[in-house]
This record gives sequence, structure tokens and C-alpha cells, in this order.
Amino acid sequence: MTSPRVAPPADTILDLTPDGARERLAQWVEERGLPRYRTDQLHRRLWVQPIATWNDATELPAALRAELDATFPLRRLKEELSELSQDGTRKFLWRLDDGEAIESVLIPSGTRRTLCISSQAGCALGCVFCATGLMGFRRNLSPFEIAGQVREVMLRDPAEKPSNIVFMGMGEPLLNWPAVDVSLTILNHPEGLGIGARHITVSTVGILPGMKKLAARPEQFRLAISLHAPTTERRLAIMPIEKKYDLHAVLDAATAFRKRITFEYVMISGKNDSDQDADALATLANKHGALVNLLPLHPGGAPGLEPTPLNRIKNFAGRLQARGVEAVVRRSRGLDIKAACGQLAGQRGTQ
Ligand code: SAH
Ligand code: SF4
Repeated sequence: MTSPRVAPPADTILDLTPDGARERLAQWVEERGLPRYRTDQLHRRLWVQPIATWNDATELPAALRAELDATFPLRRLKEELSELSQDGTRKFLWRLDDGEAIESVLIPSGTRRTLCISSQAGCALGCVFCATGLMGFRRNLSPFEIAGQVREVMLRDPAEKPSNIVFMGMGEPLLNWPAVDVSLTILNHPEGLGIGARHITVSTVGILPGMKKLAARPEQFRLAISLHAPTTERRLAIMPIEKKYDLHAVLDAATAFRKRITFEYVMISGKNDSDQDADALATLANKHGALVNLLPLHPGGAPGLEPTPLNRIKNFAGRLQARGVEAVVRRSRGLDIKAACGQLAGQRGTQ
């Protein structure tokens, strides 16, 4: 595994938790002898009612806006591409200040708008079926670069504010815990983005130290475990991380979560889709009271992997259900623009 390159230093107020940012602003307001209510006015412009630049905060005197621009510049993610799928899914490609690229995917469904966000540029874990894994690890994202994906979507159109967040974009969130920790606070805090913890899902292959830290947080964030195989032998063939954190240790660690967990299971022909696999998976799901999401394999990972045919996926789901497991076959969204799970590789969809 490559060792993480260090993310740029916290050089924006948007890298701080809402409490940390409030303290910083309050201090500045006091130093300048400004009225105390200014702190609230400034603070809500970070996340609650975001603005692109301080100049847009027309409730403030012009001289103050200019000063704020110099003191607390509001960083942005540069939108390089926004592609709309036939099914309404929208993929964004953001260019970061150092030239790295990351992606987010906005998936509307009824009144729900789920934003799938990235936590790293690339990923070191090399799951064979995943396009991000294939590109390798570039670097960790900062708190602003993570929560900023939501902020940018709101800046484009406040009506499009996501109702749900899933850490299922590029990267392994629990290998970037310090930044993910702060970003979770920003996402959830009433003076941040105010998204309920139960509407925020962290997806992980099962990084044990990170799972402990996530479980220790008081909010009930949801946990999805990318299981993809029901035995160590089967999992090793497609997920190298199994060598370091085996699935039994991962599932033990998952018992620390109070909320119901989800198993993600991408169906790959001949690798994890036999009847025996279904039975072994049912045993694990029952033991841990887990919901099972069955995902059709999307193109983008290692060549030579074939998706399980849909009728076979349905059989597999039926077998789980017959054993009392709640299993759902996920609809693929955004396939035409390479925005589906595991297809995010920081490229233009047409390449
Ligand atoms: N690293 C974390 C989060 C990002 S991956 C994790 O692995 O959980 C987000 C989801 O996309 C995971 O469930 C992953 O297994 C799934 N995925 C990856 N490649 C896929 C593919 N080719 N087809 C379908 N789903 C895939
Ligand atoms: Fe990384 Fe998740 Fe892709 Fe595996 S599935 S390579 S952990 S992003």
C-alpha cells in the first residue's frame, strides 16, 4: 500500500468544524470591535446559506466583505464537468487546487436527493472490480474538499441541496479518518449542513481502527460494509484488504454500531454468486441483522470480470429472502455517463 501523501494544510475556514469556525469568526469580530451579531451573520454564510464569495453576502457592508475576502477566503472546488444521465443522475468532476480530480454523483429519487461523495483522490485498496481501485491512490481529501462537494451542489442551485449523503464515491473514508471525522460534523451539525445522521452513510471495506472511531461518535451515522464475498477465501480473490482485516474481524467490529448495518455485495459471475455463497451470506446477514444490497457489476474494474446475469441475481436474492434476509437488488443509476458505483476514476465520462 502506498503511504498517503499529505493533503494541503487547513488553509480555509471551511476546513474547521462549525464550532471551530464560529470561535475563529467571533474572535475576529471582537478584535475589530464589530457588533457581536456579525458573527452569526458571517457564520451562516459558510454552510447554512452558502455563498461563492463574500461579495455575495449583500447583507454586509462592502468594506467588510472586501476584508473578509482577504482574511477568510472561501475556497471552491472547480467544476470541470457536470454530466446528466438519461435517468436524472448527475455526475460532477471537481478539479482541486493541486490539479487532482474527484467526483460526486447526485442521484434523485422521489423527494430524496442522494449525493455520493468522495473521501480520497483515488484509492490504495485495489479491489479488482473497482475503477477507483484500478487508478491507485493519489491523496487524502481535506475536510473542506469532502463537505465542499455538498456546498458546491448547493451553490449551483440551493433547491438541489442533498437530503442524503453516502460516502460511496472515490476512496476509502476510514483511511482518511481525521478529515472524514471533521466532515461528518460539518454535514450533520445544525450550523453546518444540518443533514440528519441517519441520512449519512459511511461505506467501508472494514478498516478496523476507523470503524472503532466511527462507532465511538455519539451520532447514529449509518454504516455500510462492502462485503462482496461471504468467506475469507472468496473475498481474498477480489479484495486484497482481506489479508489485513479479515471479514470476521470486520463483522465483530460492526457489532459496536447501534443502528442496523448494510452489506454491499457486487455480483460477479463465478466469483461470489453461487448458491453456496448465498447460503453463507445469509448466515452472516442473519447473525448481524444486516440488510443486503446486491449490486450488478458495472464495467470499469479489472478486465475479465463478468457481471452475474440479472435472473441469476434475482435467484440469489430469492435464496437470501427465503432464509429471512432483507435483500434488495439495486437499480444501476447513471451507467451511461460512467457515474455508477465503482466507475469513478476522475475522468471525463466519454474517455
Ligand atoms: N471504499 C469504500 C467506499 C467507496 S466504494 C467501499 O469500498 O465501501 C462504493 C461502493 O461501490 C462499494 O460498495 C463498492 O464495492 C462499489 N463498487 C465498486 N466497484 C463496483 C463495480 N464495478 N460495480 C458495482 N459496484 C461497485
Ligand atoms: Fe477502494 Fe472501495 Fe474501490 Fe475497493 S471498492 S478499491 S475500497 S473505492
